[in-house]
Amino acid sequence: MSSLTAQTRLFTVLGDPVDHSLSPVIQNAAFLESGVDGVYVALRCDADGMVGFMSGLGRAGGGGNVTLPHKEKAASVLDEPSEAVRRTGACNTFWGEDGKLCGDNTDVEGFGRALRHFLGGAAAGYRVLLLGGGGAARAALLSLVDDEAEDVLILNRTVERARAVARRIGGDRVRVAESLSDVDDGDFDLVVNTTRLGLDSEDELPLDLERLSRAGAVMDLVYGPGTTPFVEASKRLGIPAVDGGEMLVHQGAVSFGRWWGEAAPIDAMRLALEAARSSDVPA
Ligand code: NAP
Repeated sequence: MSSLTAQTRLFTVLGDPVDHSLSPVIQNAAFLESGVDGVYVALRCDADGMVGFMSGLGRAGGGGNVTLPHKEKAASVLDEPSEAVRRTGACNTFWGEDGKLCGDNTDVEGFGRALRHFLGGAAAGYRVLLLGGGGAARAALLSLVDDEAEDVLILNRTVERARAVARRIGGDRVRVAESLSDVDDGDFDLVVNTTRLGLDSEDELPLDLERLSRAGAVMDLVYGPGTTPFVEASKRLGIPAVDGGEMLVHQGAVSFGRWWGEAAPIDAMRLALEAARSSDVPA
């Protein structure tokens, strides 16, 4: 980053946990490459703390991202929610403008771009199994629905939460699994993991893929210093799989555009991510 001054704008990722986050790595690389006067840090906070930070930072000309588990709460405190926030009820990006707290959900576009990068095209016509029912599930579902996926089955530990996501975003192509056995022998073109399973080393896998008759491809939104256990398990079964690294870069690039009004240096962000992962630096 350039030297810090009284004009430097402060950006932050707010959540709990945040110590796994590589957003500071990619955003500070982008700020440096673009020559903008900003600095980006991670702050672990509870929901009340997050609301205070969002409002204070926004008023002070800064902004940031919101990560798990606060995206739904963040959506509820905005003065100016974007269309993506209104449709998902989740916010991952905020900033101040004319005294108002503005917010967007760049996970929607980030997910769509990363998916197209992975599949070589949109998910139109795909039968999808979506694991999870939190903030990330909302973004992935909206992107899949807008891309005209043929059918999306949501499986989440808390069924009512999955129902709420389906009701809000869904339509007649979205269904909710009542229990794990509902996915047995399922045939899916794509399985998307939006649960947080894989973030901690002792986590179980989000799904035993051998329960399915077919999974054409797997996209795990979780990312870490190395490959995630779900991606590894998928590849062992011969299923093409990708983790959340590419999505991280794309959602971050869209956020950068909201804060600075210019296109993000996406190659620099991708390089910074690769460097952080290859040096295994916890960030
Ligand atoms: P969230 O709103 O807190 O939701 C967490 C999800 O994980 C819920 O579906 C929850 O199920 C499920 N879960 C938690 N513990 C579980 C357990 N022990 N067994 C089964 N399911 C469990 O979090 P989020 O914002 O959606 O984020 C989820 C993950 O996506 C995180 O790892 C985050 O880093 C990742 N993500 C990555 C990107 C990217 O750019 N790559 C972007 C967004 C999110 P319940 O509803 O039953 O609690």
